[in-house]
Amino acid sequence: MQESVMKAWWDSSHMAGANAAYVEQLYEAYLEDPQSVSDSWRQVFDSLPKVDGVELESNHSTIREQFKKLAALGPAARMSSTPASNSAAVSDERQVKVLQLINAYRFRGHQHANLDPLGLWKQPRVRDLELSHHNLSEDDFDSIFNVGSYAIGKDTMSLGELFKSLNRTYCGSIGAEYMHITDTEQKRWLQQRIESVQSKPEVAKEEKLALLKGLTAADGMEKYLGAKFTGAKRFSLEGGDALIPMLKGLITEAGVVGTKEVVIGMAHRGRLNVLVNVLGKNPSVLFDEFSGKHDNTLGSGDVKYHAGFSSDFATPGGNVHLALAFNPSHLEIVNPVVMGSVRARMDRRSNDSHKVLPITLHGDSAIAGQGVVQETFNMSQTRGFAVGGTVRIVINNQVGFTTSKLEDTRSTQYCTDIAKMVQAPIFHVNSDDPEAVQFVTKLALDYRNKFKRDVVIDLVCYRRHGHNEADEPNATQPLMYQKIQKHPVPRQLYADQLIAEGVIKEQDAQKLIDDYRAALDHGACVVDEWRPMTEHSVDWTPYIGHDWDAPYDGKVSVDKLKELGERITSYPEGVKLQSRVNKLYQDRKAMMTGEKKLDWGMAETLAYATIVDIGNDIRMTGQDSGRGTFFHRHAVLHNQTDGSTFIPLQHVREGQGDIEIYDSVLSEEAVMAFEYGFATAEPSCLTIWEAQFGDFANGAQVVFDQFLSSGEAKWGRLCGLTVLLPHGYEGQGPEHSSARLERFLQLCADHNWQVCVPSTPAQVFNMLRRQVIRPMRKPLIVMSPKSLLRHPLATSTLEELAEGVFHNVIGEIDDLNPSEVKRVVMCSGKVYYDLLDQRRKNEQTDVAIIRLEQLYPFPQEECAKIVANYSHVKDWVWCQEEPQNQGAWYSSQHHFWQAIPEGAHLTYAGREASASPAVGYVSVHNQQQKALVEDALTIK
Ligand code: AMP
Repeated sequence: MQESVMKAWWDSSHMAGANAAYVEQLYEAYLEDPQSVSDSWRQVFDSLPKVDGVELESNHSTIREQFKKLAALGPAARMSSTPASNSAAVSDERQVKVLQLINAYRFRGHQHANLDPLGLWKQPRVRDLELSHHNLSEDDFDSIFNVGSYAIGKDTMSLGELFKSLNRTYCGSIGAEYMHITDTEQKRWLQQRIESVQSKPEVAKEEKLALLKGLTAADGMEKYLGAKFTGAKRFSLEGGDALIPMLKGLITEAGVVGTKEVVIGMAHRGRLNVLVNVLGKNPSVLFDEFSGKHDNTLGSGDVKYHAGFSSDFATPGGNVHLALAFNPSHLEIVNPVVMGSVRARMDRRSNDSHKVLPITLHGDSAIAGQGVVQETFNMSQTRGFAVGGTVRIVINNQVGFTTSKLEDTRSTQYCTDIAKMVQAPIFHVNSDDPEAVQFVTKLALDYRNKFKRDVVIDLVCYRRHGHNEADEPNATQPLMYQKIQKHPVPRQLYADQLIAEGVIKEQDAQKLIDDYRAALDHGACVVDEWRPMTEHSVDWTPYIGHDWDAPYDGKVSVDKLKELGERITSYPEGVKLQSRVNKLYQDRKAMMTGEKKLDWGMAETLAYATIVDIGNDIRMTGQDSGRGTFFHRHAVLHNQTDGSTFIPLQHVREGQGDIEIYDSVLSEEAVMAFEYGFATAEPSCLTIWEAQFGDFANGAQVVFDQFLSSGEAKWGRLCGLTVLLPHGYEGQGPEHSSARLERFLQLCADHNWQVCVPSTPAQVFNMLRRQVIRPMRKPLIVMSPKSLLRHPLATSTLEELAEGVFHNVIGEIDDLNPSEVKRVVMCSGKVYYDLLDQRRKNEQTDVAIIRLEQLYPFPQEECAKIVANYSHVKDWVWCQEEPQNQGAWYSSQHHFWQAIPEGAHLTYAGREASASPAVGYVSVHNQQQKALVEDALTIK
């Protein structure tokens, strides 16, 4: 230590006696952020030893002790002494080395842990974990050292004892990674939990028996299916059998601490096993499915290893509702769906994250490979998407289909490294040690509940068969499978352990096998804790079985609208609005007094006000939803004085429905999936996801394809999610013009969802209200406008809003004489105003314009009524802004043909087919737009 540094240290009166704690605090602060302490203190701490350049936490009492000793020596003595010549200093040095050793194990012990049941992992040699690296040796084993913050319950230990303890704690069946967490409280809490029991707490006999029973069930189920349905795909859990007792333990512990609902997301691996052995699905139903029988109530259905399931599960703390989410083959996408579902359930339970627990199961290749995982981690602590932490379990069978070479699957040491982005603790655990699995599972749950953060358990196991049972894994993983073939199943290993411990006898273990098999033969539920459902928090029956065109009462009085208009244009005096926003709010006030007609933003906001007024909730997320991408919504006001926010819609009336509006993280895929999960768990809420620009929704294509359009058909799950997709050709280029309407239309069948293109403020008002007031719950895809938000013709009156009807088709609005009409142009969206404007300029009376405001389900009856006025017209045109291969022309043409009078012909007016959605040059855009309007209006 340099003289000046020593002097700084000595000069500080805080060094003595009781104030030693101060040093500790300073050191703590230094570890968190070296810049947070003064230069002189930084130099003192900098001079402490480091390991591999990593700043280590020398434990507090040692620091204190060290400084006390130095203090006792006095400044002159201390300054004149050199470490080599002073025995006290030498022992200080050894003490510090011991503390470094402890920290080395905390940081890197997991790299020497016994994690792989197959013993195939090549572990790097970690020198930090060797005594010699710290200038220590077995000769020091008898020396007594202070162990600082090592939470073993004593202050001192011999080095021999400590070394053994560290190896047991950090290098056994558990590899704990948590030193990347910067929050000291979390770190200390984890150390306390892990070190106090040296990662191996006492396990009671009943617990051991429960673990063996779980393993027996896991193994028994797969063997039974394998024998009965040889070669059929079941995506066996074998190798990862510990998952069954693990999940049951997790649910039981959650129930004990007050959890009421658990939502689980998992891919196909082990799913049938979980369904039968955890959720209590009746095995006879599963066997029927293997034999080809199916439940007719579930539409077109899905393969059995995608099926969801719901049940209740008895725990000492009361029953817990379990919901296993339905999911497609697309790995990891179910996780944000689960989180959305959990958020909805939490909202119903006073936002209490203790009451609802998300558990997501991941594959080792998928968690590292799929970007949606990163998105969910990023969302995990945000206002709009937090669910109080997710317990994430990786079924790490060390192979993804046929890919297992590390250099092919990922670029990180562990498959779980992505979790470090949110500083989640990660517990790697050898799945052949079910007691270790049980320990980390409880630890993970407690961590999640205490800190409301994500936590990861990496269940290191193997896959006994190929990717599915028809696969031959030796073709691609010969060495691994030679090992697996010789490796006893987890049940056998644990049964042997319990027999050796004298906990059970051989015949007891055999009896468990026989009893389980007999239960399967009997076909009844094999989960003792299974209970019929009573704990789920919402009843969907009122929403089932409704047609989209069933009548509903959407009327609202003008007086009511004025009253609500007043509320949503008011804000506290202290809120100073930005000048453009202020003008917009003044305009809105004028709209309420009738001085101005309503624009889009006001009508939309009024719709929300009426919805919360009748007590329904609203949840809206999107990349700029508070303000609106195009500066039209301003549902969230930003006080120019202090940056605080105010949401007038939250102040409509006492006892109103809740409204939450969040600017989302910059993701489409996970956010859309989250909102799908939310909407499938909460039917009474108007749930809206808004894309910044419509085509960005293609970042969430898997959610549209695999969930939103087909979830009801495959799984019978209703979903009333509303998706606002800004769409319209305004010369903004390929990426900001089209919401790819054609994609949504192409997916239309079985009345699976609604595709609407509202063209007036009254229409958006009534469309949004219809979505909530009608009991039908189907997704609503909206091509929402951009320039129409401020178009002088796109305005409505309060009376038009009050009418309470969404017009699926709007007929001619100008006073044309139908008998003079020679051509009828049908269109949707913004191009209508271009057509209207040009026709008025042309003073034409021979072309009528019909607007289709709902393209699917196609409003045949309403269309027929309007078309009847023009039954004499033979010349019908579909006009669109989109290129011919896009928009509605190819996808909806069959509906248009059906709508027009018999014998009439239908032609196309629009852009030519194009690979790109739109041109990049405004001048070309304008030319094209002019031409297509002219084409539509010119009778040849
Ligand atoms: P869960 O709370 O998700 O386990 O659901 C409990 C029960 O409610 C399910 O078994 C279904 O009968 C019903 N249910 C849940 N979600 C939906 C949905 N989105 N559509 C229709 N029924 C649902």
